[in-house]
Amino acid sequence: MPFKLRNFTDRTRALVLQRAIDLVNNQSVLILDHDQDHAQCHVQNNRGGIYHVEIRFKDEDVVFTHCDCPYRGVGICKHTAAGLLQLLMKEGFETTSFRTDEFHFNDADVNEENEEDVVLKELIKEINDDKYFDLFQFLSSQDREQLLGFIGHYLEESEDIRLVVMAYLWYKSERVATTKDFLS
Ligand SMILES: [Zn+2]
Repeated sequence: MPFKLRNFTDRTRALVLQRAIDLVNNQSVLILDHDQDHAQCHVQNNRGGIYHVEIRFKDEDVVFTHCDCPYRGVGICKHTAAGLLQLLMKEGFETTSFRTDEFHFNDADVNEENEEDVVLKELIKEINDDKYFDLFQFLSSQDREQLLGFIGHYLEESEDIRLVVMAYLWYKSERVATTKDFLS
Protein backbone atom coordinates (compact mmCIF):
# COMPACT_ATOMS: atom_id res chain seq x y z
CA MET A 1 0.00 0.00 0.00
CA PRO A 2 1.24 3.53 -0.71
CA PHE A 3 2.70 5.48 2.18
CA LYS A 4 3.94 9.02 2.75
CA LEU A 5 7.71 9.33 2.48
CA ARG A 6 7.85 10.87 5.96
CA ASN A 7 6.04 7.80 7.38
CA PHE A 8 8.63 5.24 6.33
CA THR A 9 9.43 4.78 10.03
CA ASP A 10 6.10 2.90 10.36
CA ARG A 11 7.79 0.11 8.38
CA THR A 12 11.14 0.23 10.09
CA ARG A 13 12.44 -1.53 13.22
CA ALA A 14 14.19 0.72 15.73
CA LEU A 15 17.58 -0.91 15.14
CA VAL A 16 17.17 -0.63 11.37
CA LEU A 17 16.16 3.04 11.68
CA GLN A 18 19.22 3.74 13.80
CA ARG A 19 21.48 2.01 11.21
CA ALA A 20 19.80 4.00 8.42
CA ILE A 21 20.51 7.25 10.30
CA ASP A 22 24.15 6.14 10.74
CA LEU A 23 24.43 5.34 7.01
CA VAL A 24 23.10 8.78 6.08
CA ASN A 25 25.32 10.53 8.64
CA ASN A 26 28.35 8.61 7.32
CA GLN A 27 27.50 9.74 3.80
CA SER A 28 27.07 6.14 2.64
CA VAL A 29 23.97 6.95 0.56
CA LEU A 30 24.22 8.29 -2.95
CA ILE A 31 21.08 9.34 -4.82
CA LEU A 32 21.72 8.41 -8.46
CA ASP A 33 18.58 9.93 -9.88
CA HIS A 34 15.34 11.24 -8.52
CA ASP A 35 12.22 12.53 -10.22
CA GLN A 36 8.53 12.50 -9.33
CA ASP A 37 8.08 8.86 -10.39
CA HIS A 38 11.16 7.20 -9.02
CA ALA A 39 14.49 7.35 -7.27
CA GLN A 40 17.56 5.15 -7.32
CA CYS A 41 20.24 5.08 -4.63
CA HIS A 42 23.51 3.32 -4.02
CA VAL A 43 24.15 2.47 -0.38
CA GLN A 44 27.59 1.31 0.73
CA ASN A 45 27.62 -1.90 2.73
CA ASN A 46 30.16 -2.59 5.45
CA ARG A 47 32.26 -4.86 3.23
CA GLY A 48 33.04 -2.10 0.75
CA GLY A 49 30.35 -3.15 -1.71
CA ILE A 50 27.20 -1.37 -2.78
CA TYR A 51 23.50 -2.19 -2.56
CA HIS A 52 21.11 -0.79 -5.08
CA VAL A 53 17.82 0.67 -3.83
CA GLU A 54 14.91 1.51 -6.05
CA ILE A 55 11.91 3.56 -4.94
CA ARG A 56 8.83 4.45 -6.96
CA PHE A 57 6.29 7.16 -6.30
CA LYS A 58 2.74 7.85 -7.32
CA ASP A 59 1.15 11.19 -6.40
CA GLU A 60 4.13 11.79 -4.07
CA ASP A 61 3.45 8.60 -2.10
CA VAL A 62 5.91 5.72 -2.03
CA VAL A 63 4.30 2.79 -3.88
CA PHE A 64 7.28 0.44 -4.35
CA THR A 65 10.67 -0.15 -2.78
CA HIS A 66 13.34 -2.71 -3.59
CA CYS A 67 16.85 -3.38 -2.35
CA ASP A 68 19.09 -6.15 -3.65
CA CYS A 69 20.50 -7.01 -0.20
CA PRO A 70 19.56 -10.35 1.42
CA TYR A 71 17.55 -8.81 4.32
CA ARG A 72 14.39 -10.80 4.97
CA GLY A 73 13.60 -9.51 8.43
CA VAL A 74 10.67 -7.51 9.71
CA GLY A 75 9.90 -4.33 7.75
CA ILE A 76 12.22 -2.63 5.29
CA CYS A 77 16.02 -3.05 5.29
CA LYS A 78 18.44 -0.37 6.49
CA HIS A 79 19.49 0.49 2.91
CA THR A 80 15.91 1.17 1.80
CA ALA A 81 15.30 3.14 5.01
CA ALA A 82 18.54 5.07 4.41
CA GLY A 83 17.53 5.84 0.80
CA LEU A 84 14.11 7.09 1.91
CA LEU A 85 15.71 9.14 4.68
CA GLN A 86 18.20 10.68 2.26
CA LEU A 87 15.31 11.73 0.01
CA LEU A 88 13.52 13.27 3.01
CA MET A 89 16.67 15.21 3.84
CA LYS A 90 16.69 16.63 0.33
CA GLU A 91 13.41 18.23 1.40
CA GLY A 92 15.04 19.73 4.47
CA PHE A 93 14.36 17.03 7.06
CA GLU A 94 17.03 16.49 9.72
CA THR A 95 17.96 13.18 11.34
CA THR A 96 17.55 14.73 14.78
CA SER A 97 13.85 15.38 14.09
CA PHE A 98 12.60 11.81 14.64
CA ARG A 99 10.22 11.42 17.56
CA THR A 100 11.02 8.73 20.13
CA ASP A 101 7.73 6.96 19.28
CA GLU A 102 9.03 6.44 15.73
CA PHE A 103 11.55 3.91 17.02
CA HIS A 104 9.70 0.58 17.06
CA PHE A 105 11.46 -1.78 19.43
CA ASN A 106 8.64 -4.28 19.23
CA ASP A 107 8.42 -6.06 15.84
CA ALA A 108 4.63 -6.23 16.16
CA ASP A 109 4.53 -2.41 15.88
CA VAL A 110 6.19 -2.46 12.46
CA ASN A 111 3.81 -2.20 9.51
CA GLU A 112 4.58 -5.28 7.43
CA GLU A 113 2.24 -4.58 4.55
CA ASN A 114 4.37 -5.15 1.51
CA GLU A 115 3.57 -2.75 -1.30
CA GLU A 116 5.41 -5.02 -3.71
CA ASP A 117 2.98 -7.89 -2.99
CA VAL A 118 -0.01 -5.63 -3.62
CA VAL A 119 1.35 -4.50 -6.99
CA LEU A 120 2.19 -8.11 -7.90
CA LYS A 121 -1.26 -9.36 -6.89
CA GLU A 122 -2.90 -6.67 -9.02
CA LEU A 123 -0.68 -7.63 -11.95
CA ILE A 124 -1.45 -11.35 -11.62
CA LYS A 125 -5.16 -10.56 -11.48
CA GLU A 126 -4.78 -8.48 -14.64
CA ILE A 127 -2.95 -11.35 -16.40
CA ASN A 128 -5.69 -13.80 -15.38
CA ASP A 129 -8.43 -11.45 -16.54
CA ASP A 130 -6.79 -10.73 -19.89
CA LYS A 131 -8.15 -13.59 -21.96
CA TYR A 132 -6.20 -12.50 -25.04
CA PHE A 133 -2.85 -12.93 -23.33
CA ASP A 134 -1.18 -16.30 -23.80
CA LEU A 135 2.38 -16.22 -22.43
CA PHE A 136 3.76 -19.08 -24.46
CA GLN A 137 2.13 -18.01 -27.67
CA PHE A 138 3.50 -14.52 -27.08
CA LEU A 139 7.01 -15.78 -26.32
CA SER A 140 7.09 -18.15 -29.26
CA SER A 141 5.95 -15.37 -31.60
CA GLN A 142 9.02 -13.26 -30.75
CA ASP A 143 12.20 -13.73 -32.70
CA ARG A 144 15.16 -15.18 -30.86
CA GLU A 145 17.25 -11.98 -30.86
CA GLN A 146 14.40 -9.92 -29.45
CA LEU A 147 13.67 -12.51 -26.76
CA LEU A 148 17.33 -12.75 -25.67
CA GLY A 149 17.55 -8.95 -25.74
CA PHE A 150 14.53 -8.72 -23.47
CA ILE A 151 15.93 -11.29 -21.02
CA GLY A 152 19.33 -9.54 -21.03
CA HIS A 153 17.68 -6.21 -20.30
CA TYR A 154 15.55 -7.76 -17.56
CA LEU A 155 18.66 -9.25 -15.94
CA GLU A 156 20.26 -5.81 -15.89
CA GLU A 157 17.19 -4.22 -14.35
CA SER A 158 16.51 -6.82 -11.72
CA GLU A 159 18.13 -9.88 -10.23
CA ASP A 160 14.72 -11.42 -9.84
CA ILE A 161 14.99 -13.61 -12.90
CA ARG A 162 13.65 -16.72 -11.16
CA LEU A 163 10.57 -16.93 -13.34
CA VAL A 164 12.53 -16.96 -16.58
CA VAL A 165 15.05 -19.45 -15.16
CA MET A 166 12.28 -21.72 -13.92
CA ALA A 167 10.53 -21.58 -17.29
CA TYR A 168 13.78 -22.48 -19.01
CA LEU A 169 14.53 -25.41 -16.65
CA TRP A 170 11.01 -26.65 -17.23
CA TYR A 171 11.50 -26.29 -20.98
CA LYS A 172 14.77 -28.25 -20.74
CA SER A 173 13.18 -31.05 -18.70
CA GLU A 174 10.34 -31.28 -21.21
CA ARG A 175 12.83 -31.47 -24.06
CA VAL A 176 14.83 -34.24 -22.32
CA ALA A 177 11.62 -36.19 -21.73
CA THR A 178 10.64 -35.84 -25.39
CA THR A 179 14.08 -36.93 -26.58
CA LYS A 180 13.96 -40.00 -24.35
CA ASP A 181 10.54 -40.95 -25.71
CA PHE A 182 11.87 -40.57 -29.20
CA LEU A 183 14.91 -42.81 -28.54
CA SER A 184 13.08 -45.62 -26.76
ZN1 LIG B 1 18.91 -3.57 1.73
